[in-house]
Amino acid sequence: MQAINHVATALILKKKFPSAPLFGLILATEAVEYLWVGLNVIGIERTIIDEDMRSVADVHLVHMPFSHSLVTSLIVAIAAGLAVLWRGGRTASAVALAIALGVFSHVVLDLFVHAPDIALSPYFDGTKFGTGLYAHLPLPALALETLWGVLCWWLYRGSWKLLGLIVFMGIGAIPLYSVAVNVGEAALGGQSTVFALVILVQMLATSGLVWLFARTREEPVTSGHPAAS
Ligand SMILES: [Zn+2]
Repeated sequence: MQAINHVATALILKKKFPSAPLFGLILATEAVEYLWVGLNVIGIERTIIDEDMRSVADVHLVHMPFSHSLVTSLIVAIAAGLAVLWRGGRTASAVALAIALGVFSHVVLDLFVHAPDIALSPYFDGTKFGTGLYAHLPLPALALETLWGVLCWWLYRGSWKLLGLIVFMGIGAIPLYSVAVNVGEAALGGQSTVFALVILVQMLATSGLVWLFARTREEPVTSGHPAAS
């Protein structure tokens, strides 16, 4: 799933847990992906990208049992929550829960779009999970995940700029999700480390922009809902 739609999950967590820091929640939703980048760069996890890459269907996440398994994600989520609790503070338990949910949300959202590449746990060679949308229906997958981003924005009552960012990132990703539309993504063919670093840059830029644009909220004139408390 694109960084923007993972990061958007931080918006609903911020709405539900107002005492949790927005940037901390944003980092939490992508914690597993930062781990994935690091483990790919040092060669512990492995991605194979077809030489004639045309879309995400040609990106094969063949080995990522530490960053993207259900068990390790749960462990990272609990560890992050415990670290917040250990630091203490008046609202530590609510913030800890919010951060843990943010971390675990990543793998859950990936399950909705990924090829079956998410293991139950490391060292377990059983069935891997994922709907397979990226492999078979990449464009509908992009539409689905962008809808998630928009839903998060709507629940948060985000600014119009923030909605613009989510939609812009969705449209901008069309070449990567469409087999027919190509704007040079073939250059990433076979370049798994470069691909991981591109994802890192995308995550950092997206996180910064969402944080910036989410600091103001706008109440739609037609909305009958009360402002976020
Ligand atoms: Zn992921």
